[in-house]
This record gives sequence, structure tokens and C-alpha cells, in this order.
Amino acid sequence: MTPEIRYEAPDTIEKAVAILAAAAGSGRVLAGGTDLLVQMRAGVAKPGIIVDIKKIAEMTTVSQEGGAFRVGAAVSGAALGENAALVAAWPGVVEAVNLIGSTQVQGRASAGGNLCNASPAADSVPALVAAGAVATIQGPNGRRELPVEKIPAGPGRTSLAPGEIVVSFTLPARPKHSGDAYLRLIPRTEMDIAVVGCGVSLTMDGDTCTAARVALGAVAPTVLLVEEAGKALVGSKLDDAALEAAAAACRAVCKPIDDKRGTIVYRTKIAGVLLKRAVAIAAERARSH
Ligand SMILES: Cc1cc2nc3c(=O)[nH]c(=O)nc-3n(C[C@H](O)[C@H](O)[C@H](O)COP(=O)(O)OP(=O)(O)OC[C@H]3O[C@@H](n4cnc5c(N)ncnc54)[C@H](O)[C@@H]3O)c2cc1C
Repeated sequence: MTPEIRYEAPDTIEKAVAILAAAAGSGRVLAGGTDLLVQMRAGVAKPGIIVDIKKIAEMTTVSQEGGAFRVGAAVSGAALGENAALVAAWPGVVEAVNLIGSTQVQGRASAGGNLCNASPAADSVPALVAAGAVATIQGPNGRRELPVEKIPAGPGRTSLAPGEIVVSFTLPARPKHSGDAYLRLIPRTEMDIAVVGCGVSLTMDGDTCTAARVALGAVAPTVLLVEEAGKALVGSKLDDAALEAAAAACRAVCKPIDDKRGTIVYRTKIAGVLLKRAVAIAAERARSH
């Protein structure tokens, strides 16, 4: 007999948190459902209560204040791609979210779901980490903020406490001449899981890089912020020596798995290659901004 599943679609975060608290561990958040429903069909996830967060305004809207963007955690990839101001300010973040799945998947899938599903290969996460995105989280004990890189805890695991929901992401106001980019390598041209993903965000002053954040996906149990790679770029003119130092920093943090998509040696090498290519795109965007 198929077990009964209760479906709730609250219109406030407070109600959603209360339902999850009352569910005492059997509740699951549903955003786009493009991971959760697949896992339920496979029998991996067996929630007693599903809490649909797509009816909550704060979680399904994008707003702008003082140059910063607040992106609801349940906004679909398609909606993000249609937000011209967000695309102009954070093209790398938007292109990372828009790489997820197909047109159909884009109509549902969210960055919040991508993050909370906690796949090491989640495409939007390196871009959000490179952007310095901060997540607003609400749970039974109120609200808190956490840098995105602190949320994944391992494959399929997050640092969220039971009953906590990621409400939104704040992307900081950008200095002039800033740009970001996300690149991934997949064995096919579409609809595959990243062998390596690399997000880069840069600020330039003339030819000199004044700020840089680099993040890698699919090369470790969680997405990694590679601080040493950022440091290697800052103060440089993004010359070959600086790029090679940053690429070496990327290779040094890689602890990938060996599987049919890529060996450890291959993934590690590709991390450096993608870093250099993503820096070139981010720098070009920064100069023209
Ligand atoms: C055909 C197909 C292709 C895909 N291709 C890609 C791809 O190229 N790249 C990629 O990275 N992924 C891919 N995915 C995986 C999936 O689409 C993404 O991870 C997507 O971003 C998940 O978002 P969602 O809103 O659908 O999450 P859901 O399935 O609704 O949720 C995922 C998990 O996160 C939890 N959750 C969701 N939102 C929140 C929140 N706000 N707070 C707390 N917990 C939350 C849910 O309880 C669940 O455990 C693909 C999936 C399919 C089916």
C-alpha cells in the first residue's frame, strides 16, 4: 500500500516553519520538485508531509535595494533568466542557474533547491559562492544569515538545522568594473552532471584585479571556495603567471571522485583549465561594465 502523503502550500514562511516543526522530521520542503520528486519516485525520499514553498511571496520574488539583489530561494531558473537587471549585474550566477536541466526543468527548478539538494556538482552553487552570496535562513529559532559556502555539508547533506528553510540569497552591491562567470565541463552538450564547475567573480581597476572570488564544484564532497586562487589573482594584471598560480591553487584543493565521467587526474587538471577560461570571461565583463 502506498503510504499517505500530506501536501501543504502555506502562504507565509512562519506557517511553513510551523508545519515543518509539527512534522517532527517527516516533512520536506518542495520548491521546484525536480530533485525531490525524482527521489520520491526512486523511493529514496519518503516524506510524510510536503511543504510547497512556491506560494510564499518572499521566496518567489527578486528585489533590488541599494545595488544589492535579494533573490527568493524558490524563484525558478526561467524567471531569473528573464530578470534583465539581475542578468546585467550577475550574468555568471544567472547562466549557472540556467544551465540546470532543460526548458521544462527551468520552469520549476530553483537555486534554493539546487543548494539544499547538496550535490557536489550542483551548478548554481559555485557561482553563488563566487558571488559572495549570503543566504537568509528561517527556522523554529528565528532568522539567521549564512554565507552560501557554509550550507553544503557533504553529498546530500546540509548544515541546516531541522525545520530550517532557505528564504533568499543576497547578492551584494557591486563596485564598478566587476564581472562574474560560471563554466562547467560535461561529457555531453546538454543535460548532464558537471565533471567540474568553476565560478569566478572579479573587480578590475584598469588592468589590475582588485578583488576576486573563485569557487569549484564537483571536485570534492562539497562546493569549495578557493581563497588561495582569489588571492593569486588580486593585485595582478591577470597575466599568465597569476593565472597559473590561481589554477595551481584550484588543482591543489581538488579531492574528486574517480568515476565514468572523469578520473581524479582529469578532474583536477580541468579545474585549472576552467579557472583560466572563467577568469577571462569575468574579466571581459568587468572591463565592459
Ligand atoms: C532532467 C534533469 C536535469 C537536471 N540537470 C541538472 C543540471 O544540469 N545541473 C544541476 O545542478 N542540477 C540538475 N538537476 C537537478 C535539479 O533540477 C536541481 O538541483 C534543481 O535546482 C533543484 O531545484 P528544485 O527547486 O526543483 O528543488 P526541489 O526538488 O524542490 O528540492 C531539492 C531539495 O532541497 C530541499 N529544498 C528545496 N528548497 C529549499 C529551501 N528553500 N530551503 C530548504 N530546503 C529546500 C528539498 O526539500 C529537497 O530536499 C536536474 C534534474 C533533472 C530532473
